[in-house]
Amino acid sequence: MSASPRRFARNLPANFPAKPVVHALAHLVGYTAARIRSPREDLRTEEAERLLDCLVQAGPVYMKMGQLLATRSDLVPPEWVQTLRTLQDDAPHMDAPQSRAAIERELGAPMNSVFREFDPVPVASGSVAQVHSARLLDGQKVAVKLVKDGVPRQIDQNLRAMGAAVRLAQRASSAVADADAVRRFGEIATLFRSQANMLHEASRQKAVYRNFEGHPYVRVPRVIPEFVTPRMLTMEFMEGIRGNAAHEVQMPQAQLARRLQDTIYTMLYMHGLSHGDPHPGNILFSESGELLLLDYGITVELTEDEKWGLSSFYYACTRKEWDVAVERFTAHFVTGTRTLRRKWDAYRAELAAVLEHHFDVVSNRWSTIGYFRDVSDLLKRYGARYTSSFTKVELVFLSCEGFATQLDPEINIWDNARRFTDRYSPYMSKEVRERFDAHFGTQIPSSLKMRDRANNSLVAPTHINRYFFPSTYPVFVKDAAGGRIRDLDGNEYVDLSGGYGPHILGYSHPVVNEAIISGVTAGNVNGIGHEPEVELAELLVDAFPAAEKAILCNSGTESVLLAVRLCRAYRRRDVVVKFEGHYHGFSDQGMVSSWFRFTGDKHAPEPIAGTLGSDSGVVRNTLVFQYGDIGGLDRLREHADRLACVIVEPMPSSTAAIDEEFLSALRRTTADLGIPLVFDEVVTGFRVAYGGAQTIAGIEPDLTCLGKIIGGGLPCGAVVGRAELTDMARSSEDPFLDYEKKAFAGGTLSGNSLTCRAGNAVLTHLRDHPTLYEDLEARTRWLRAEFEESTRKRGIACRINARGSIFSLNFSHRSAGVYRERMAGSNFKATIALAYYMRKHGVYLPELHSFLLSAAHTDDDLAVVGKAFDLSLTDMAGDGFFVT
Ligand code: PLP
Repeated sequence: MSASPRRFARNLPANFPAKPVVHALAHLVGYTAARIRSPREDLRTEEAERLLDCLVQAGPVYMKMGQLLATRSDLVPPEWVQTLRTLQDDAPHMDAPQSRAAIERELGAPMNSVFREFDPVPVASGSVAQVHSARLLDGQKVAVKLVKDGVPRQIDQNLRAMGAAVRLAQRASSAVADADAVRRFGEIATLFRSQANMLHEASRQKAVYRNFEGHPYVRVPRVIPEFVTPRMLTMEFMEGIRGNAAHEVQMPQAQLARRLQDTIYTMLYMHGLSHGDPHPGNILFSESGELLLLDYGITVELTEDEKWGLSSFYYACTRKEWDVAVERFTAHFVTGTRTLRRKWDAYRAELAAVLEHHFDVVSNRWSTIGYFRDVSDLLKRYGARYTSSFTKVELVFLSCEGFATQLDPEINIWDNARRFTDRYSPYMSKEVRERFDAHFGTQIPSSLKMRDRANNSLVAPTHINRYFFPSTYPVFVKDAAGGRIRDLDGNEYVDLSGGYGPHILGYSHPVVNEAIISGVTAGNVNGIGHEPEVELAELLVDAFPAAEKAILCNSGTESVLLAVRLCRAYRRRDVVVKFEGHYHGFSDQGMVSSWFRFTGDKHAPEPIAGTLGSDSGVVRNTLVFQYGDIGGLDRLREHADRLACVIVEPMPSSTAAIDEEFLSALRRTTADLGIPLVFDEVVTGFRVAYGGAQTIAGIEPDLTCLGKIIGGGLPCGAVVGRAELTDMARSSEDPFLDYEKKAFAGGTLSGNSLTCRAGNAVLTHLRDHPTLYEDLEARTRWLRAEFEESTRKRGIACRINARGSIFSLNFSHRSAGVYRERMAGSNFKATIALAYYMRKHGVYLPELHSFLLSAAHTDDDLAVVGKAFDLSLTDMAGDGFFVT
């Protein structure tokens, strides 16, 4: 923090005086009238000084209003802006003896027992607190934020007086009552009161710090928890250029303004926890243009649903889908909707017109205040209003716009907003699509023709009409061998899809080919006994120490359906526990809370359907937990009586990491409670080790779900585990008892001889070549290091997780937190675009964030992949994917 001019050398008044409040308000009214009467410019500075004095005398809440006005150069004259800015960081403060006494009171100890140095003159002073620089005994430089004596009481006095006025106004005026002013004021009052509570502020600051850890240009001071008390907050000291002196920053002001806007949007849309008061006194800049976010006295929190509502609403606006935007806006941010529901058509048309006007017609002169005012007037006419969350969002947008406009008067707010929103959409923008259209039209014309032909007769949601991750330029394969595929036009690619997992030995491996050919020669049978199915069961049971028996089926999805049914039958209970972000196949149960839509508190999520068409009963009968949260497992005990089983991916693909401590705790707790534990090792089963992630972790589940590799590339699945559970599907040889006590498992093609022969060939090969796993791990590490070097040297925020041939890549700085938090920061557009750029450079990546190596990939193949990634990043940077 740079030195301040410190115009105030006196303390705040101890009590709330009525007169200055009246003066302050009279000024605002008087100024407007005077402007209309005679534009006496020479009086503006004097007026501003008088107003400033009145606000200071009136108390912290009024000072806050002054701070807000200081960011609105579009509303008040420049002399006012200049003078009122003083309130942002140079408001009156306590003198040295007062500050010292306050600190010793908070510490309960002499100052020198904690601080080696302490500057008694604050570096900044806002409406509620003042900030001192100091040095801890270990030499670390810190900032100590101290609530000014008397301020909590003054806030209380201010708010009580204002509250009385609002109540009076509400009684006297139906317009004020319609606006639900008393309730809204109550919410704002709560926000103000929390400003003087440093424990609350420290917890918010810590959360924002975690959210921005690793961010390319946003910094948040680290809290030093040992020296945090209700009135004092100690944190890492950050030097920087004040918001009002941003011209000193070595970066174009337009870029700085865009960074500011992106930062606020990231907090609101992605993190759901935003700085609530982003005025220039609270945001500093480093010389190179980093943003240092200070002061978490006011924060705005949005639920998952509100974040979803905000993003989906703005997304519809960027696509000019006004009716959809009206639906989303009304569903998420409007209350009191009875009248408007009755007059829906008129309301919809009117709101659509307002949205179109602001988001399209006058969008290059975007005005947040104008937009909010128009929508608010319209809602009022229909007896409705914004939700309190949206009111808070509005305040943040207003401050942000004021500050951003101060940095760059030419800023095109809506254009930036559209660019921001677009980054998180999986669909390419028009410009990028045109570039790809031209390129792929030449590189893969036959595939594109086949895509168009397929679209007439085939819906293939996993690879052509891909759900959520669109596949605009699908590749159609002519042949595949080893680690490579060749498309219809003869282009060869190093393949990293691995067919989503089965082809661990590469395509067309001799042992698999021979097994399939011999199976064809012998005649493929199903629904009749044959040796290969017994052999496959034996191989599976031998591979997993905890397994006694196996049941075969046709896919990973089926194996999960079967495992859950066995557990429900065994326990005679319905409720299934699963983990947020874990995908267990495409059944209703497998998809609950599994992808990009979550809801409820992150520590105790509520279940939400993963797809339209899910049975709501299945969703209701699911409890959702967080992988890695050992403390959260206590909830298992609360619900133990209702639980059929717990299902988990022991090594979730999204992190490619095994949390052994967590899995041990989960095993202990489920064993204590007698609840079956199911490991979904459909991906990891024979990929990360022979015997899967459970072999690495040394943990024995009750059941294991398998698929992919065990069929050697043909459709296959299996449940293996304790006989007590698998035997639920075994006949009792009494038809009545079967119905009463057994669970049915079936499948015409389950365990067909061709699949079993192919599976046996692969598993036998893997079992007999254990060093194959070591090689895969070494190659995984090598490639990961190559990727990391490519992103590091370009300063691109990218998280790459990899283990045992499984990679997960996200263009995001976030690596901490639960699944929904890590995913929320991801640049989906860049991830999908990467797949297309890689294809230009000879590598096939699926349009997902995960990909796989096979044992057939050669050193040459890996070198091609490393180089393609490097070249792709260069292309992408050139095409504006990583603008910061
Ligand atoms: N479980 C996990 C962990 C998966 O990743 C998948 C699919 O990718 C499945 C189950 C479902 O397997 P399948 O697609 O074979 O039905």
